Formats: sequence, C-alpha cells, structure tokens
Amino acid sequence: MRIILLGAPGSGKGTMAQKLTSELNIPQISTGDIFRKNLREGTPLGLRVKDIMASGALVPDEITIEIVKNRLIEPDCANGYILDGFPRSIAQAEALDAFQSIDCAVNLDVDNETVVKRLSGRRFCPDCSGTFHVSSLGNAKTCPQCGGKLIIRADDSEETVRERLRVYEKTTFPLIEHYEKLGKLITVDGNGGIDVVYRRILDALKK
Ligand code: AMP
Repeated sequence: MRIILLGAPGSGKGTMAQKLTSELNIPQISTGDIFRKNLREGTPLGLRVKDIMASGALVPDEITIEIVKNRLIEPDCANGYILDGFPRSIAQAEALDAFQSIDCAVNLDVDNETVVKRLSGRRFCPDCSGTFHVSSLGNAKTCPQCGGKLIIRADDSEETVRERLRVYEKTTFPLIEHYEKLGKLITVDGNGGIDVVYRRILDALKK
C-alpha cells in the first residue's frame, strides 16, 4: 500500500506512521527525519536546510522532491510506503502524482488546542525517530524504545511552532482538497489517545 499521512504539525503523523510501519511492514518515509539526519551529520544538505528548518519554513520543493523520488525507488519501497510529511505543497503533490500512484491520503484532523498541547510536550529520539509526550514519559530522559537520549526538537519552540502552523494553513492545507478531488482522501479524527486514533486509521484503511 502507498499511503500519505496528511495533517498539521503535531497531528500525530510520525507516531501513526511508526505504528503503521510495523503493522504493514512497509517503510515510513519522513522528509523531516531525512533533513534532521543530514543536519546532525553536517552534510551539505544539512547545512542548506538548517536555517530554513529553524525558522519553521519549508525546504524548497525542488530539493525535497528530488530526495523523495530517490528514496521511493529504493527496493524496500517496492511493496509500498507511508509518506510522513510529504507532500506539503501542491507542487510536491503534483510531482508525486506524476511519478507514482498512491492508494490513499489519510488526513489526521485535530483541534488547534490539541496541536499546541502535543507540540509543547513533545520529546524526540534522534536515534530511532520515536516521538513521545511528557504526559506518558514522566521524568524519563531516555527513549522507551531504544534508550537514546530524548531531546526537544529545535523547531518545537513556541515561535517556530506558530510559523509552522501558518505555513501549514497556507501551503499544506490545500492538499486536502487535492486528494479529495482525486477520490483518495480519508479523513480521520486525530483527537484522543494514540491507540484510539490508530484504531480509527486501521478501520478507515480496511474500508
Ligand atoms: P516534520 O518533521 O515533518 O515536522 O518537518 C520538520 C521540518 O522539515 C519542516 O518544518 C520543514 O522545514 C522541513 N520539511 C519536512 N518535510 C518537508 C517537505 N515535504 N517540504 C518542505 N520542507 C519539509
């Protein structure tokens, strides 16, 4: 299955993509994780996107599209994949449409209040890309999945979150209509606990 996860920052795309990956045995392709890895490793791409990401803006389409195209032709994507954070603009969606046919775009619909609450308590593991919330971590400073050191993502600061939400409204939100017109949109209520939302996604995918 070729699945796109759509939704605002903090809507749960990363968490749901990780669960779907283990269940469906297809890879999670997160453009954000790819950029963060390049940042950590100080590659030329990492240096190029550093300030863009820190500001909450989007990396230019031509760079992002090229990266995704190269990733999707790798052998582990032969039976499908879960796109998490791509596409994020109409230009990216059209490039993907021209390149591969996806099965569905799952839109995680969440209230603004939920988004702010989730992002402000979010902790990230750079080693396994796990995302957690302080409400379930207690005082733990290490990743429950792999033991890595948890961090607060630089772009989860209040000012950057506000900019990311603005970018989402302006550039990414129109994708909902794009996939609706193609008859590929599935909207799922993304409010609530992880297991509840995940069950809704599985039920929607079965249909
Ligand atoms: P994410 O982890 O998906 O929230 O992405 C973190 C940041 O990486 C975004 O705020 C953008 O700066 C950049 N990024 C991730 N995916 C894309 C994309 N598809 N297009 C442009 N920039 C992206």
